[in-house]
Amino acid sequence: MASSFARLARTAENAGRLQVSKEPVDNPPYDIHTLGDQVLRTPAKRIGKVDDSIRSLARDMLVSMYAAKGIGLAAPQIGEPLQLLVIDLEIEDPKSPPLILINPEITAVGGSLCTYEEGCLSIPGVYLDVVRPSVVDVSYRDEMGRPKRMKADGLMARCIQHEMDHLNGVLFVDRVTDHDKLREGLGEKGFNPADVHAIA
Ligand code: ZN
Repeated sequence: MASSFARLARTAENAGRLQVSKEPVDNPPYDIHTLGDQVLRTPAKRIGKVDDSIRSLARDMLVSMYAAKGIGLAAPQIGEPLQLLVIDLEIEDPKSPPLILINPEITAVGGSLCTYEEGCLSIPGVYLDVVRPSVVDVSYRDEMGRPKRMKADGLMARCIQHEMDHLNGVLFVDRVTDHDKLREGLGEKGFNPADVHAIA
C-alpha cells in the first residue's frame, strides 16, 4: 500500500529524517479504527528490529494522520498492535520534522497534574477534559533504531501520554471523570458509552 508515498518520502530520509508530505491526501494508506473496534483494546507488542518495514509503516501512518488532520497516531489505531507512535505538533509547517517513537517508556512523571481537553482520531468529534501529569521523561527508539530520551511538557507531554495509552489498549475516554459529559459527548457522535472501559 502507498508505495508511491514511500518513494516520495525517501528523498527526505537522506537527511536522516523520516518525513512525508503533510498535504492531506484523499486516499490515505490506512483507515483509522474507531471506538468499539477490538484492535484498539489489544496491547501492542514491542518492536524487535527497527527495519525498512517499520519505517515504511511509520511513513504510511504519517500520511494517514495528516489526511485526518491529527497530531498523533498510534499503530493500533490503524490495526497494527505494535509499539509505534507518530507525533507532529506542527502539521501546518512543512519543514518541521515529525517525531517517531518506537517502544516508548515513561521513565518519570513530574510537574503538576493538569486538565486539558483531548480528542482522538479514533473517536472523531468528541472532545473532553482529561487530567494527566504535565511533564514526562520518555525513553524510546527513533526511526533508525537509536535509543533516545526526552523530557516533554505542554502539548507534547499530553500527546505522548495519550498515544502511549493506545499501546496499552487505553483510550482517553476511559480517563474522563465527568461521566455525564462523557455519555452526552459520545451519544452526540453516535458512539456507544458501553465501549468505554473506565479506569477510575
Ligand atoms: Zn487517540
